[in-house]
Amino acid sequence: MNKTETITTIILFCWVPVMVTLERLFPYTKGIKFFREGWWLDFFWYTIFQSYFLKILIFDYIIAPAKTSLGLANVGVLSNWPVWALVLLFLVTHDFYIYWFHRLQHNTKVFWRTHEAHHSVRTVDWLAGSRSHALEIIINQTIEFAPIFFLLDVKTAAIVVPVKACLDATWGMWIHANVDVHSGKLQYFINGPEMHQWHHSNHPEVFYSNYSTKFAFWDWIFGTGFLPGLNPFKHQFLKPQQYGLPYEYPREYFLQHWFALKRFDVKKAENAPGIKPYINWTTMVLSLVKNSATNPSKITE
Ligand SMILES: [Zn+2]
Ligand SMILES: [Zn+2]
Repeated sequence: MNKTETITTIILFCWVPVMVTLERLFPYTKGIKFFREGWWLDFFWYTIFQSYFLKILIFDYIIAPAKTSLGLANVGVLSNWPVWALVLLFLVTHDFYIYWFHRLQHNTKVFWRTHEAHHSVRTVDWLAGSRSHALEIIINQTIEFAPIFFLLDVKTAAIVVPVKACLDATWGMWIHANVDVHSGKLQYFINGPEMHQWHHSNHPEVFYSNYSTKFAFWDWIFGTGFLPGLNPFKHQFLKPQQYGLPYEYPREYFLQHWFALKRFDVKKAENAPGIKPYINWTTMVLSLVKNSATNPSKITE
């Protein structure tokens, strides 16, 4: 781990308690528990398991061989730029791409299959953003990090990549955080929970809205912004009333991935031998943790 990776990892670990504390102090939706439904799925399977294997696949088996085969191994045409300018360049260009790809995912049946997992979260909090289908991550992160490796030498890329990855992770946690923030006109420029909580709501009128990730202005420029609290936009409710998907969706990591490729009877699959005990096991453990956290006397009874 180089120095930049160490610093960005520390920032990331410090960012989690900041988000959790803000969620406790200023909740957007009141009464959400830390160990909410799907916590284990998002924390272990998506954040730890999937991230670990996809990082190896994307960097070692896609980007590195592509760079070598293109003969770019020692080029780095932008390596003389200052780091801040490079981060800004890749931040804005990738954010522009992600706006359009995200919009494509909501507007085409095939690409929606790679994105529905992300919308299956029914409790949107700091961890919810991690739930993204592996295919979605492979496409997005390859397109995000390949230009960094192609246009920079190895030394400069070793600084820009962790900085960019840290920004992605912290910003991703922020826009999903269950924090009741009112940033006023800033919501025309910087994306946050105000607009992204709406994006995750199960309301037909916002299904084709708020695609932005970091910069909210893409939505306002391209006519997809939705925020009822921001004049002149008006809406019956100032906050979403429901979240998640309007159809049945698996609760287990591998079933979620298979469901993107082939539709099946969700209830039947979840009751299959091997799957049911696993779902029951994680539900049982989490309910024990929840109960002991809310009522410590219960475990000594
Ligand atoms: Zn979406
Ligand atoms: Zn999201």
